Amino acid sequence: MEELTSFAKRRGFIFQASEIYGGIGGFWDLGPYGVELAQNIKQSWWRHFVNRNFNVVGLDSTIIQHPRLWQASGHVDTFVDPMVDCKACKHRFRADHVAGEDTNDLDKLATALADKACPNCGEKGTFTEPRQFNMMFKTHVGPVEDTGSTTYLRPETAGGIFAQYDNVRETTRAKLPFGIAQIGKAFRNEITPGDFIFRLRELTQMELEVFVKPDEAEKWYEFWKQYCMEWVQSIGLKADHIRLHDHADDERAHYAAASVDIQFEYPFGFKELYGIANRTDYDLSAHAKESGKDLSYFDEETKQRYVPYVIEPSVGVERLLMAVLLDAYDEEQVDGDTRVVLRFTPEIAPVKIAVLPLSKRPELSELSREIFKEIAGDWRVEYDETQSIGRRYRRQDEIGTPYCVTIDFDSLEDKAVTVRDRDSMQQERIAISELKSYLTQKLS
Ligand code: ATP
Repeated sequence: MEELTSFAKRRGFIFQASEIYGGIGGFWDLGPYGVELAQNIKQSWWRHFVNRNFNVVGLDSTIIQHPRLWQASGHVDTFVDPMVDCKACKHRFRADHVAGEDTNDLDKLATALADKACPNCGEKGTFTEPRQFNMMFKTHVGPVEDTGSTTYLRPETAGGIFAQYDNVRETTRAKLPFGIAQIGKAFRNEITPGDFIFRLRELTQMELEVFVKPDEAEKWYEFWKQYCMEWVQSIGLKADHIRLHDHADDERAHYAAASVDIQFEYPFGFKELYGIANRTDYDLSAHAKESGKDLSYFDEETKQRYVPYVIEPSVGVERLLMAVLLDAYDEEQVDGDTRVVLRFTPEIAPVKIAVLPLSKRPELSELSREIFKEIAGDWRVEYDETQSIGRRYRRQDEIGTPYCVTIDFDSLEDKAVTVRDRDSMQQERIAISELKSYLTQKLS
């Protein structure tokens, strides 16, 4: 994990937020390559989950919503994690993590904690009673900080989708099944953030809520489970690093009829990457009840009225980005040297092409800049003319750039350039007039 964290910093993928002030736990910034990588992951998700489906549309709802929305969704009362303090060293922990029990039951946790030693100072029997801690960040809307103005930063994007369900259905004239997709920030005041960007306090979610006929919910649950499995592999996760983990009755939310995690093998073991759930009619019913608005659906085929069921695949961009980075990372021996290479798929590689004039001589720079202008725009292209060509190739390998285009003195005569493939390191001479279509074909 330390290696990954320092590599990600050194290569400009991820920096600690407020690092010059000593950092702030659970917050990380995306550097120049991280922001491109995240952008490509989000675009791939949008292409696969929205554009490629007949009946999925997008939404961008606000981070701050009416506080009653979070009352209705159950977050005010039940979005809690059990917390425990060590009386000896004053460290605070997730009680279920220290107890090694996947439960929210305070009595069970207290029993399990009785003979556990503090993971920080090693003392035994020094834990306080475990208690529930609500993970929503509170804030105030307007100039007066009273209880009437209290609201929350959203802990997930889904709430905004449920609240707009009826507007979307009506304006798009959608019939079941249809989905609403959203990408956006969510905030969770995690008791123990950590494991680099795995557990954050400010995160980005990509959520899809699919509204279905109740008797078709199982079918669509299976469909989206497989769809998500295929998509994460299409962006580079290795089949033997992912697995499905079905939730047992006592592991899943009381309202969910079924839920499953796609787990990824992080350096600290298989952990949740993606959550897929059959949420029944819980959300729409709860919002209908709290708001007083009828959110039932009239089925013109069967002439029946019912509240749709919801299938929800939900994933965090950063958890996925971390998995993608881990599975792309490779080292190999080349000429007695270690070559570090990120084997990103062309779709998600932060930089697609590097344009590298062999020297800084003006006649080469001029032609190289023309080539850059010709191909940049459709793709993220880097222009680099400093240091030896070998070192520039290695630099591009380390950020996972699939193709390097080298312009040499022969280029001025033969109007051709050398294209180097990141993975095979093979070089091909390509006519400048053919370059764009050659790269388009290679990157597609
Ligand atoms: P965990 O059990 O790890 O706390 P969760 O079950 O609370 O996760 P969900 O509420 O199902 O997570 O959220 C959906 C997805 O959002 C998760 O699968 C994960 O990818 C992402 N996510 C949730 N919490 C965090 C977090 N604190 N940091 C980063 N990503 C997160």
